[in-house]
This record gives sequence, structure tokens and C-alpha cells, in this order.
Amino acid sequence: MVGSINLDVMVRVDRNPEVGETVLGEAVARLPGGKGFNQAVAAGRSGAETLFCGSVGEDPDGAFLRRALLGAGLGDALLSVSKDLPTGMAHVAMLPESGNSIIVSQGANAALSARAAATAVDGADVVLAQLEVPASTVEAALAAGRAAGALTILNAAPTNAFAESLLAHVDVLVVNETEAAALGGVDALLDAGPRSVIVTLGSRGSRWKSRAGDDLRVPAFAVDAVDTTGAGDAFCGALAAALGDGASMPEAMERASAAGALVAMDLGAQTDRLSVESLAELVATR
Ligand code: ADP
Repeated sequence: MVGSINLDVMVRVDRNPEVGETVLGEAVARLPGGKGFNQAVAAGRSGAETLFCGSVGEDPDGAFLRRALLGAGLGDALLSVSKDLPTGMAHVAMLPESGNSIIVSQGANAALSARAAATAVDGADVVLAQLEVPASTVEAALAAGRAAGALTILNAAPTNAFAESLLAHVDVLVVNETEAAALGGVDALLDAGPRSVIVTLGSRGSRWKSRAGDDLRVPAFAVDAVDTTGAGDAFCGALAAALGDGASMPEAMERASAAGALVAMDLGAQTDRLSVESLAELVATR
């Protein structure tokens, strides 16, 4: 896993402030986050031996995230420390019913080097990356993984950091519906390089299309969804774990969908509900 790691500073508020206005929020919760870290946790909980390559600052938040990585069993050998930039931080306003407003301060994630990423993927069966670290770093990770025979998966989120040159190194591209539209649609994406594209469709499931002509719709699992934050991250992490485990794409998508559904059942982007056993149990209900 090559990607971002942030401190999520979360405050529940009744509404967003207008410009020039201050609103009072509830007590702050500080949680480890970032797409990279969330997806690494999901891959690990889905049974894959997972190593996380990322960058934090030389500050107490970086130390907190290092402990979180170790606590999640992901190891800290591939975590670099930036001397110049602070640890990445996401300021999350949790709004009633309408979801979250988020401001991300990228910080040390911007310092994750192409060289660190290319070295980190040595020996991996699967390389998974997202776009919250520099595109040149993502490209180095995917290219090195490809060259060494690893399966490469790119979750092209957020799309503002997307570069089409990345697609030449991608086996499986994963995007949600909004991202697919922003990047010109599934067919255009498929033409630009990846072997296959998965579009996640929230509670409507997901769809896999490949250059070889596969076109598969996988329905979502019916669960009582509380908060779908992180469903896409869980989907990607579990997908990478399943493909690394030798599962076929249809099987891997079942496990990934189950992971997305399990995360949607709890508040936040990570959940203790996610395990090899709970994935197998939910998949068996089909
Ligand atoms: P993102 O978080 O990137 O926007 P999605 O919302 O598309 O991603 O969710 C990813 C996957 O998680 C979906 O394809 C689906 O399998 C699962 N999922 C998401 N929301 C729900 C839900 N309400 N109920 C069941 N499964 C869900």
C-alpha cells in the first residue's frame, strides 16, 4: 500500500458556518485516517499481509499515527518522516444527515518520494495506491510493481490529482460513480490503459468491465447502513487482499462489496466488524 496517512480531526456541528461566522461544535475526536491508511487497514483486516508506505511529519501527530499503524499490525518500516512538512490533517465537520464537510491539509503526504515508493513495493504480490500523494510517487510505485510482476490497483481518488499517464501501469482501476464521470466515463478510461475498471455505485453495488469483454454487475449486500464514509476504501482494501489471495475477480468483488457494506454499518471509515470471518459470513448469505 502506497498512500496517504492523516490525522482526522472530527467535530459534530449543526451546520457549516457562513463566511465570517463562527459556530460551536461538540468535543473533538482525533482518529487516524487518510485513504491510504484506511485501505491498508481494510486489506489487513481482510487477511492480507499488508505493509504501508507513507509519510508523516516530525511532530506528535506523526508519532500518534505511527502508533496507530503498529496497532493495526501494518508495521512502520516504510513510514518516512518529513523534516519540513507537518503531518497531514483532515478537518471533518460532521453534519446531521447531510454527511461530512472535509478540508484536507496534505502536509507530509506531499513529501512521499517516488524513490521511497518504488523501493517499498519490492517483493509485493499486489500494489494498491490512491491519489492523495503526488502523482509522480504513485506512478513510480505502480511502474515498479508492474516491472516486478505485481498486480497493480489504482483507486483514482480524489480525481483532481489524476494524470492519464498513470493508467499505462494499472491492472485494475477502481473509481466511484462521480469519479468515473469526472474522468470521462468507463469506456474512455478502459481505452486509456488499464486491463479493467471497477465502478462502485454505493448501495446499488458495483460493476466490473474489462478489455477482454467482461461486464459484471455485483449487487450490494442489504445491510442497515449508518454512515457510508470509507465504504470505497474498505472495498479497495478487501479487493486487493482477495486478488492477492488468488481469488477470481467475481469472488474478489463479492468480498470487496461485503467489506464496503460492513463499514457502512458503523460510523467512521474503519470498523472492528471487518474480519476474514465476517466477510465470509456475509458473502455466504448470497
Ligand atoms: P465511495 O465511498 O468511494 O463513494 P461507494 O459509496 O460506491 O464508494 O461504496 C463502495 C462499495 O461499498 C459499493 O460498491 C458497495 O458494494 C458498498 N456499499 C456502499 N454503500 C453501501 C450501502 N449503503 N449498503 C451496502 N453496501 C454499500
